Amino acid sequence: MTPHPAPGALDGTDVDVAVVGAGFAGLGTAIRLQREGAASYVVLERGDDVGGTWRDNTYPGVACDIPSHLYSYSFRPPSRWSRRFAPGAEILEYLRTSAREEDVLAHVHLRTDVLDARWDESTERWQVSTSRGTCTARALVLAAGRLHEPRLPDVAGSASFAGRAFHSARWPTGLRAGDLAGARVGIVGTGASAAQILPEVAAVAREVVVVQRSAPWVLPREDRPVDEAEAAALADDPAAYERVRAELFAAAEEGHQARTGDPAAVAGVRSAALDHLRSQVPDPALRRALVPDYEIGCKRIVFSDDYYPALARPNVRLETRPLRAVVPDGIVVGDDDPTATEATQLATHGLDVIVWATGFRSTRPPYARGVHGRGGLRLDEAWSDGMRSFASTVVHGFPNLFVLNGPHATLGHNSAIVMIEAQVDYVLGALAHLRAHGGTLDVPLEAQEAYTQEMDSRLASMVWATGGCTSWYRDEETGRVTLVWPGTGTQFRERNARFDPAVFQAGLQRAASTATSPTSGRQGSRFHVALSGAPRA
Ligand code: NAP
Repeated sequence: MTPHPAPGALDGTDVDVAVVGAGFAGLGTAIRLQREGAASYVVLERGDDVGGTWRDNTYPGVACDIPSHLYSYSFRPPSRWSRRFAPGAEILEYLRTSAREEDVLAHVHLRTDVLDARWDESTERWQVSTSRGTCTARALVLAAGRLHEPRLPDVAGSASFAGRAFHSARWPTGLRAGDLAGARVGIVGTGASAAQILPEVAAVAREVVVVQRSAPWVLPREDRPVDEAEAAALADDPAAYERVRAELFAAAEEGHQARTGDPAAVAGVRSAALDHLRSQVPDPALRRALVPDYEIGCKRIVFSDDYYPALARPNVRLETRPLRAVVPDGIVVGDDDPTATEATQLATHGLDVIVWATGFRSTRPPYARGVHGRGGLRLDEAWSDGMRSFASTVVHGFPNLFVLNGPHATLGHNSAIVMIEAQVDYVLGALAHLRAHGGTLDVPLEAQEAYTQEMDSRLASMVWATGGCTSWYRDEETGRVTLVWPGTGTQFRERNARFDPAVFQAGLQRAASTATSPTSGRQGSRFHVALSGAPRA
């Protein structure tokens, strides 16, 4: 790893933009800011390296399940990917290289934990307190990740386990799959992380127990190496690379039709998944246990060529009884009801290692507790009935705040990078507007509510809400689908990549008229921020 140039001191600095997080979204923002050269900025990163999810997830088998030629920045030169779906370490290196070559590293403050960010009305600045001092910024970009905070289930006795236990995204440094040779390993969960871990661990472990609460829908991934000639041809020919990206993007966009509930599209994807299951799992009892009881697409589909074959191995056991407890030497599963049948009764699995592949706290992000907007309102309070925004990026009451990978900003069928890039375009447009016109930007409540209601009503009839499942897309308290964008990636870009000052002007005009009205107290303060602040040089 190339040494990271030490950024200047943070404490007491004032910048145009503070970016929280140095993953794909934060670095993408920084690169675009750096190229534009119009704004001063810092990137605040609590980890000891850039890379976000690709720094955190080091489990054996970690790789992308979106083709890498698409899962990369469109604005960077073509990259030489070794495989169609690059391994995690290669993606991490891509991000490090991008940050280094684009000269953003000197702005990245590592090991800098953002403790709290407060909007200061008098200075029209965000005051950002970190573990390494305080800075102020005109705009705050939250790029802190939606799949960052491990969700560990509250299982009785977890602390009593005598072996090693860890979350999939906190794989112990230096622990290789080979080190698990001869071990008895429990993997709790059957999402994309578990599906990548299992084949690697099953190949060496004495025994693996996979605790499945819901079976995933699985489609073939069709991974393959990218040979030297092909890699070189694409790396040397940006136009050819662009064509490949466009083809991959268009092919992925077709996956959206099944999410809309179109019966023919749903039937097509379902039968492809069931064919995949039939072709890879010969045992009918195991096959039955692997047929999901919810509609395909409701949870994120797993793409894997080796998950089913790993489950069919003689040293792997699929456990469908509920996880009851952790005991010092393993886990207890099953029903403690005296009428339980043999198939559901209590049983203990002796284990040496437990991997919690149990997902992330996505819909109620912990970072929201530390962000205080106008009048001290906390972002988690503003989102008390689930995330809401305008344009998936700005939130009423939080001036000059931009949230990436937040409300209604993910796709179930295409690359996350497409969405991030559209959001970064929006942020850059807003920053240019602030530079040109001064003042501050607080989206009117009406605009946010209209946008959110549109999202809620479109999503209510889509598979994420109707498919009979829970998922990380869906707010656990209200049931609202708060993370997914209901349309295609193309539609997101068309709708949300361009900053439109008129939306904010509407608030400005209403505030001007209500400010003169004696009955206008609440309305006036609601839009006050759009009026505040003289133009800055
Ligand atoms: P996830 O999809 O949220 O899956 C969590 C799993 O843990 C689910 O199977 C869940 O069961 C299970 N679980 C949770 N609590 C449990 C309990 N008490 N007992 C038994 N099972 C329990 O998490 P993930 O696999 O880490 O993936 C999250 C997302 O990260 C993916 O959807 C994807 O977007 C991303 N990811 C991407 C890649 C890639 O290749 N690009 C790789 C890994 C992850 P239920 O389904 O019943 O809740």
